[in-house]
Amino acid sequence: MYAPDMLSTRSPKEVWETARSHLRLQLPRSTYETWVRDTTCLAHEDGAFVIGVANAYAKDWLSLRLRPLIKRTLADIVGHAVDVTFVVQPVPVQDDPDRAPAPLLALQTPDETSFTAPIPVALPNYGTNLNPRYTFENFIVGSSNRMAHAVALSVAERPGAAYNPLFLYGGSGLGKTHLLQAIGQFVQASGKRALYVTSEVFTNELIAAIRTQSTEQFRAKYRTIEVLLLDDVHFLAGKEQTQEEFFHTFNALHTSNRQIVMTSDRPPQSIPTLEERLRSRFGWGMIADVQPPNLETRIAILQTKAISLGQAVPDDVLVLIAQRAHRNIRDMEGALTKVLAHAELLKRPLNAALVEDALAYLTPTQNKLSLEAILEVAASYFGASISELTGRGRSARIALQRQIVMYVMREETSASLPQVGQALGGRDHTTIMHGCEKVANDLDTDAELSRAVTELRSRLYEPVRVRS
Ligand code: ADP
Ligand code: MG
Repeated sequence: MYAPDMLSTRSPKEVWETARSHLRLQLPRSTYETWVRDTTCLAHEDGAFVIGVANAYAKDWLSLRLRPLIKRTLADIVGHAVDVTFVVQPVPVQDDPDRAPAPLLALQTPDETSFTAPIPVALPNYGTNLNPRYTFENFIVGSSNRMAHAVALSVAERPGAAYNPLFLYGGSGLGKTHLLQAIGQFVQASGKRALYVTSEVFTNELIAAIRTQSTEQFRAKYRTIEVLLLDDVHFLAGKEQTQEEFFHTFNALHTSNRQIVMTSDRPPQSIPTLEERLRSRFGWGMIADVQPPNLETRIAILQTKAISLGQAVPDDVLVLIAQRAHRNIRDMEGALTKVLAHAELLKRPLNAALVEDALAYLTPTQNKLSLEAILEVAASYFGASISELTGRGRSARIALQRQIVMYVMREETSASLPQVGQALGGRDHTTIMHGCEKVANDLDTDAELSRAVTELRSRLYEPVRVRS
């Protein structure tokens, strides 16, 4: 049932091949490789392309995030609007020149060659560093984290086989560490050795090893585990020597099919001063993000949390807390604890009035946030300097960051357009207006932009939590 115009020229399969090559140019490499590369056109039915995908996650991801782009791409090729549906149809893995190459031996330092030897039987117990609370069972799945949860679980079930490396990113307090540790518990329960370490500890250990001339032990420790769980890799930004060492560790583990899982507060391409060779390696396997959860998921998380605390909290109270503490899950858990503490200490019933009193700190008076403070927080988040943000530089990156700052300044303070213009190096108010409108317009369609704005906002309000 091919549409006549297409039949006369190309088959749907050929059209899809062309579309894939266009998508390959339009998408980040990791996105293309993860979601698009292994798809096939199965048919063209009732005016829709039926695309076969490897699994349900790919189907969800393509349907939810890439469908508009795919439809546009196909429409450009066939010359009229088309529809597209995705069906699960596992395809055998084939050799494909697109696939990330195995790291070159030449890149390895000499001691890495011994790495492929069997693991010694008796290995020191490095301790697990795992928090028993952070398990898959305790992790509530919603649309904001479904993908990250699914890939984390499949990595835990088949370390080294499914997605390697796995790179999880998202704003603070959204469950990255929880997932990372859940992988660790799962892997250990199945008798394999996982090591959880924050990038900060990794760096400190490396520095100590260099100081005490024990880098061999440092290397042995990191290169003989089966699953390396490295938290907060954005911390490696600007740390050249640590990056160098991690690069070799990464290669050593990856070449021997050991699993690497990393988390970060942003995707690899947005980590400033990350060496290009690491950046590209981070994208070899799978990159998945966690988004801020919707109200429904937040309520579900609070319910579980209340049960685990052995507290009977009325649903309307949980709903109120979930509505008030919406920026991230860590804050929301803090809010619940705070409400419970208020109830206990003041001997008050758990009701709406108590929530209002206990959580008054979550409604900061807007004008407390100064434009300067926003500028500082933004500069540190973007890895840019204040003078870059307020200056005249017009690179696409800095221009976009500047516009995000304008937008956040307007949204989060009562400053006027001219005041924002003033704070941003004496810019005209029409420039500010234009920038704010652009960001507001793009927020719905640009997930990366929306994440940056959300994260910046949550960082602005972090001090509020400390003050409470
Ligand atoms: P991140 O590492 O992204 O900053 P964490 O993993 O430390 O965030 O999560 C912050 C808190 O929120 C933790 O107590 C964690 O258990 C909890 N949390 C996050 N996501 C979920 C979830 N989906 N279900 C249950 N608890 C969650
Ligand atoms: Mg964390």
